[in-house]
Amino acid sequence: MEGIMRIPIIAGNWKLNKTISEAVALTTALKALVADNTSVEVIVAPPFTALSAVSDAIASSNIRLAAQDVYSEDSGAFTGEVSAPMLKDAGCDYVIIGHSERRQYFGETNDSVNQKVKAALAHDLKPIICVGEQLEEREAGQTETVIKSHVTGGIAGLSAADLSSCVLAYEPVWAIGTGKTATPDQAQEVHNFIRGLLTEAYSAEVASQICIQYGGSVKPENAAELMVQPDVDGALVGGASLEAESFAKIVEMAVSSQLRGWL
Ligand code: PEP
Repeated sequence: MEGIMRIPIIAGNWKLNKTISEAVALTTALKALVADNTSVEVIVAPPFTALSAVSDAIASSNIRLAAQDVYSEDSGAFTGEVSAPMLKDAGCDYVIIGHSERRQYFGETNDSVNQKVKAALAHDLKPIICVGEQLEEREAGQTETVIKSHVTGGIAGLSAADLSSCVLAYEPVWAIGTGKTATPDQAQEVHNFIRGLLTEAYSAEVASQICIQYGGSVKPENAAELMVQPDVDGALVGGASLEAESFAKIVEMAVSSQLRGWL
């Protein structure tokens, strides 16, 4: 749909990295570098242990906080888990759900993703729902089938209002942490397919408002060409988010790609 201006989201997934003091140092450096940005949503996702300290460090800044996972129950006998009310209490606005590493190593399924999405929404946390095919699936021509099952499974049962609080992240598994990035055309093709799925399930108007990030070896060098694609609304960044300078450069690229889109 023409004329819709989605605010790009650049989110840094720090994965299993950074002690509390390292996390605060990175956040403090980043805060200074992105202080002038008003046109892109900037998010950092530290490990659970650093959420509260990073929340304090970003107070009254333009950076928002995300967790890397959430449990579907609010409380109870679930040793080792962290719930949506706890994340809210720690200062989170967003939570990454269904990252491929969680699907690959921790048994995350479309069903568990869906339950977590609902738990997050119930506590006013915005889910960043990750979807993406593996290399063998792409090579076997199954990309659309896999993406369809991740998207429809992840958002099953959500109202249009619920969906409007969600962000989707297309992350081809073969591009995560490998240095291989999807070409801008490959990314656009899948993003457009996802928007088509949302149009079928809801409406073109609803679909046109949803932010779909790209993730997979995004770096300052390739960010601009990905983000000028019409259906690519920012990036979920792993490795390049661990240093303030490279992450801030990606934010700058998003700002300038967006300005170009508006001209
Ligand atoms: C990610 O962890 O979501 C990711 C995209 O990692 P990287 O940028 O390192 O490929």
